[in-house]
Amino acid sequence: MPTVLSHSRTRVLFGPGKFAGLGALAKREGAGRVLLITDPGIVRAEHVERATRSLKNAGLAAAVFGGVAENPTTRHVDAGVHVAQRHRADFLVGLGGGSAMDCAKGINFIVTNGGLMSDYWGVDKATRPMLRMIAVPTTAGTGSEAQSFALISDPVTHQKMACGDVKAACRWAILDPELTLTQPPRVAAASGIDAVAHAVETAGTTKRNPVSLEMSRLAWSRLDSAFERAVRDRRDDAARADMLMGAHLAGAAIEQSMLGAAHACANPLTARLGIVHGIAVGVMLPHVVRFNCANGENPYAALSDDPERLARRLERLLEAGGLPRRLSDCRVPRGMISDLAREAAQQWTVTFNPRLVGAAELSEVYATAFS
Ligand SMILES: [Zn+2]
Repeated sequence: MPTVLSHSRTRVLFGPGKFAGLGALAKREGAGRVLLITDPGIVRAEHVERATRSLKNAGLAAAVFGGVAENPTTRHVDAGVHVAQRHRADFLVGLGGGSAMDCAKGINFIVTNGGLMSDYWGVDKATRPMLRMIAVPTTAGTGSEAQSFALISDPVTHQKMACGDVKAACRWAILDPELTLTQPPRVAAASGIDAVAHAVETAGTTKRNPVSLEMSRLAWSRLDSAFERAVRDRRDDAARADMLMGAHLAGAAIEQSMLGAAHACANPLTARLGIVHGIAVGVMLPHVVRFNCANGENPYAALSDDPERLARRLERLLEAGGLPRRLSDCRVPRGMISDLAREAAQQWTVTFNPRLVGAAELSEVYATAFS
């Protein structure tokens, strides 16, 4: 395990109750004026109150930007930048799901380097140093805390811009399984299946390497064994701890090996129809696994020597989580397939899919996801 984690830029503080140490950790990292970036649901769950208390007890000046929404856009980033500047923030804390952590990274780009979010679309575009940041996930899902990428959407086109920079990586991630106790069951299932999809897709991409494969494998074994227990009983502390660790490792695997066609197909479903990211990814995943193995290859060999068994296992997980298994269950009109496929073919992640795909192949994958 330590050999794997040593490849990560982000140090990890893991364990029940570790969240209470947020203030002391921020202070040790040189914070003076902290901006906490989060969403309204987290404010209601009282995590924000605990965080600000911990920061203030450490002698730090804390302000809160609670205006993040799902799939954050440049508008959310701009609003957060305004608060950061008014507070003269010198340190950031992203507290919540992937949206809050991504938005925090987005704010960091603009506060320190100026310009527009689109200026940082791509890799390593920031020229000036960025603020130090701690990420605290409250869902076991995106693993954004392990990544140097901020996914920020254009508010008009809904195009997701992946803005990555080594300087945007978090100094620390606090992984406290007590925080995921407050996830509503549907959120736990949707974000959990997203983490599963990260483990599976990273294991198959063209960029997979021995390090990423090790992370994908570790992530998969934790998520595969804990998912059903975690969605059945949210008070199962051991299952929630495994989900949080699995999601983090899968997020770290993305940093090495990117994602594939399930994420490419999911993005237009979210952008056009507002389908929650994890639900969209979950519906597409078994079909993408089958499609990628239909030519007799098995890019997922690190996880299973039988791709059909892997696809069936994924379908069982969807069922256990009460998640839709067909696009028709998500009210996707069949007539939309060619438009969806055209947009999916333009997604960055499609370029890392193990089997070469264009709009025609993706139409085929969407069609199978209806039945
Ligand atoms: Zn995802």
